[in-house]
Amino acid sequence: MTGKVYLVGSGPGDPELLTVKAQRLIDEADVVLHDKLPGPEILDSIPDERAEDVGKRANGERTSQPEINRRLVELAEEDKTVVRLKGGDPFVFGRGGEEMVHLAEHGVPFEVVPGVTSAIAGPGVAAIPATHRDHASTVSLVTGHEDPEKEESAVDWEALASTDGTIVVLMGVGKLPEYTSALRNAGMAESTPVALVERATWPNQRVATGTLDSIVDVRDEAGIEPPALTVIGDVASERERAVEFLEGVGE
Ligand code: SAH
Repeated sequence: MTGKVYLVGSGPGDPELLTVKAQRLIDEADVVLHDKLPGPEILDSIPDERAEDVGKRANGERTSQPEINRRLVELAEEDKTVVRLKGGDPFVFGRGGEEMVHLAEHGVPFEVVPGVTSAIAGPGVAAIPATHRDHASTVSLVTGHEDPEKEESAVDWEALASTDGTIVVLMGVGKLPEYTSALRNAGMAESTPVALVERATWPNQRVATGTLDSIVDVRDEAGIEPPALTVIGDVASERERAVEFLEGVGE
């Protein structure tokens, strides 16, 4: 087999935040398999004849993970050089780990090409440092996709509430009411600063800020929609001290 699959992170969306290696591989690939998360600017730059969209279809259905896995192996067996392009970093909530093991089990040569994750870069471009010597010695990257009420939640919100570190929630627009109330119930202060960063580094980036108590109303008023991430913790207030000096943060 001369085919190979590159599991490539696209960064959060600004084409200039693609790594040099990601850009080269995209330019050289026979096929680029992608969903919508790399954002319009990067996706529009890939010639249609080499791009294959495995995200949501016109009818709203998603290409299933097994279908994507099969397609990757199939293309490699046709000796194609394949870029599997994922938003941010391929191994941060991107199912890149599952795809890697599938490739390995099918004897397909692969390489992992890290990307700038939205989990750190998203807050960053909104003037929110993920860690801070005075405010946050840890940062947790958390999925907001699952229901905190569910009995066997994989996310221990109570434990997260007890750290004084930064919490960055991905896929967490819809379940914002559930996990903010889980954090409040676990004793986190209602005045804890919270920011929502929508489409970070895309041309239409937006940022909305509030507190643990107010952020659901803030979300509703601003009409924040995915892709967006939630930053919870004192670092979010650093933004207020810096933002008037920062251009293009989508206030
Ligand atoms: N692998 C990706 C994350 C995939 S999970 C990464 O490292 O960035 C998808 C979630 O990532 C979205 O629901 C959203 O919470 C977040 N996300 C990805 N790109 C984003 C962007 N440009 N702006 C804000 N959030 C983003």
